[in-house]
Order: sequence, then structure tokens, then C-alpha cells
Amino acid sequence: MLKVLKFGGSSLADADQFRKVAAIINAEPERRYVVASAPGKRFFEDEKVTDLLLRCHALAEERNPFEDTFQRISERFNGIIADLGLTLSIEKELEIVKSAIADGASSDYVASRGEYFNSMILANFLGIPFLDAEECIYFTAEGKLDSKKTNTVLENRLAMLPRAVIPGFYGVLPNGEIKTFSRGGSDITGSIVAEATDADLYENWTDVSGMLMADPRIIENPAPIDIITYRELRELSYMGATVLHEDAVFPVRRSGIPINIRNTNAPADQGTMIVPHTEDQSTDRLITGIAGKKGFTAIFIEKDMMNAELGYGRRVLETLERRGVRFEHLPSGIDTITVVVNSKELEGKKDLIVADLQRNVHPDTIRIHENLAMVAVVGRGMIRKPGVAARVFNALAKAKVNIRMIDQGSSELNIIVGIEEKDHLTALKAIYEEFKPKE
Ligand code: ASP
Repeated sequence: MLKVLKFGGSSLADADQFRKVAAIINAEPERRYVVASAPGKRFFEDEKVTDLLLRCHALAEERNPFEDTFQRISERFNGIIADLGLTLSIEKELEIVKSAIADGASSDYVASRGEYFNSMILANFLGIPFLDAEECIYFTAEGKLDSKKTNTVLENRLAMLPRAVIPGFYGVLPNGEIKTFSRGGSDITGSIVAEATDADLYENWTDVSGMLMADPRIIENPAPIDIITYRELRELSYMGATVLHEDAVFPVRRSGIPINIRNTNAPADQGTMIVPHTEDQSTDRLITGIAGKKGFTAIFIEKDMMNAELGYGRRVLETLERRGVRFEHLPSGIDTITVVVNSKELEGKKDLIVADLQRNVHPDTIRIHENLAMVAVVGRGMIRKPGVAARVFNALAKAKVNIRMIDQGSSELNIIVGIEEKDHLTALKAIYEEFKPKE
């Protein structure tokens, strides 16, 4: 049994958090590989070390003094070291980074130093080896993760290290320069390490006890999600429910490794399990989660006998493609097709596209409906169960929410309804009330 653990910034924000993290790691011998983030916020108005580093970089670029900001970073790391009673000294290395910033080091390099120092301190505190991501996480010259090389090198390096701490968030380009993932990217490193070591479980430790059925800023006290499949997670994260970096799913999903979202501040909570397969994950809940997102535009196209016309849908999509517009949903009827796009994609192109469509597909009518919100009701529990859609529509009707569009994915895993943006909150509340687990 082998577990890879990733600790987020709030889990490693100060010495007390480091102690909690060490207790978690030491509680199970199979918790062997640890990926660490940079120190995050200790309190609401606090700043993340990554943000401070990026500010240093921005200041230096404008030839403004950055020493005070850098001093705050040094103090955070030195404070953790002193508070943990470690003999480690990072003074010299901090000086090197400071000079590099003054000499115009890249923002990726500067941003990565938060993970670098924090992981070095954690490794020292745990008394286990530190493996620099620079030596095992590879990017291609185009800046994409080089999975093949990364996997091979990581596998070989870790075969010789029964335990290790690896900094998250960055790796190295073929020219030797440091490159980071996008923000929150330590989740991806954790997933990569889990894949390379063929781990049984990827534990992602953060400051919440897993995922909730709905956004707690909208729904009061939503029920927690115990188990969710990768597919369901994808549907919910697309709609804005965030627990993990979107790209973190791919490496572990490929290898069928489950992710367990856990809370460093409440380690007894079991958190949320994200598992590969729908089939063997039965559930007594019809709905796993509900999420919604604003900012969509629907293009409704109507034409008599559309169904009998060869290539109609293709010509519609091709028209959009030529203008560089991606589509999100595509519900259709016999004589109608609706293309739902992210409104941003249409900026400055709406009239052009309508004209193109008139010319290319000769619709009887074409209407554009802006300011739509999409609400996704997601759940493997609804597959082959009748009546779920009816309950969604009823709940919305009772709440006087007008449905502009309906789309059910072919996986039967979700029902997506398009509504007016102004009804967004009302809709989410109504659907949650309808499906919330009964106590
Ligand atoms: N420290 C980086 C950030 O703040 C990466 C991470 O925490 O995953 O985005």
C-alpha cells in the first residue's frame, strides 16, 4: 500500500500547521511521498508567499525596490524554521534568490521558490529526503508537461527513495529554466507523483473536509459528498465547483488512482473520495451535486425540415469555427438547433456570426439570447432512474424560474438547464431543496 500526499498552502502556512502535517504523515507508514505547496494564508487578510514572490518580481521588473516585500518572505520561512527548532539555514539560498530577482530572473522561477523552500523545510522537519522538482518534473519546449520523461525519471528516482518530499507547482524546461504550472498547480504535481509511483491513493490535504453538494456561499450548510466519480467531478468543476486544479485529475484518472480530499485541520473527517468508475460506485443519492455558472449566450436556429438536410449541423458549427468560437452545449430538435457558447467568445463577433449563418445555413429564424446561466444537476444515481428531470423542472416551476433550454448529456449523468442569469440563485436553491438528503 502506497499513498501520495499533497498539502496545500494553508496546511503549511506556519509552524503549527507543519506539526499537524507531520502528525498526519507519521500516522501511517504507507504515507511515503509528500508534495508541498508554498506557505498560504494564516488569516483572512494574510498574503500567500507565492503572491509575495510574484510581487517582488513585478516590482523588480519596474525597477522599484522589492527588498521589504522580500524581507517578509524571508521572515515567514525563517519564522517557521525557528519555531520548529530546526538547525537548517536557508540564508545563503535566500540571498541567491534575492540577487536573481534583482538581475531579472523569470517570474516562473521566482514564483517557484515558495514551494522550493517550504518543501526543503518540511523534508528537514520530517527527517526524510528532499527531491527537487527541477530534477524530476519535465516540460516540453512548448511548455507542456512531458509526461513520458517525467514518469520515467520519477519512477527511477523514487524507486531508490522509500520516502521523499517534492515541491509542487514547478518543473524544468529542456533549456534548464524553471517553469510553473498555472496557479494552484501543486495539485498537478501530486497527481503526477501518484501516477509515477503507481500509488493506491492520492490524498489531497486542504482546509475543508471535502466537497459539498452545492456552493456554501449560496446554500446554507450543504450536505457533504462522500464519494464522487471523476466524470461527475468534471461536470461539477466545469460549472465552477472547485476543489482541485482542473488538470490534476488527468494523471491519476489515467491510472485509476482515487483521490481523497482531506482536511488538515480535521484529520478524523473522511473527506471526499474521487473514484474512477461509475459502475461499481452505487449510491443511495439521486444527485451528487449541483452547480451553476453565468455568462452564456444561446444562438437559436430554426429551419423547417432541418432533419432532412444533410450536413446542416456541421455547417452551423463550421461557421462558428471559422470565427474562432467554441461551443459549450448543443441541444437540438427536429427543426431546431441551439448553440450555447460562453458569451466572452462572441465579443465583437455577434453580428458577423449572424450574417455568416444567414448566408451559410439559410435559417427560417435565428435568435440570440444573452445573459443565460447554466445550472447542472449531476449524479450517477439518476442513471436509468425515471422522474429526476421532472422533479428538477417542477422545482424550478414552483420557484417561478423560466427554463430557456434543456440539455441532458448522453451519459445520463447530468441535466443542464439554461435559465436567465437573474434566476441563478433561486434556481440553485430550489433544486437543492428538492434533492437534499433527508435527515
Ligand atoms: N503556490 C502556488 C499558488 O499559490 C501553487 C499551489 O499552491 O498549488 O498558486
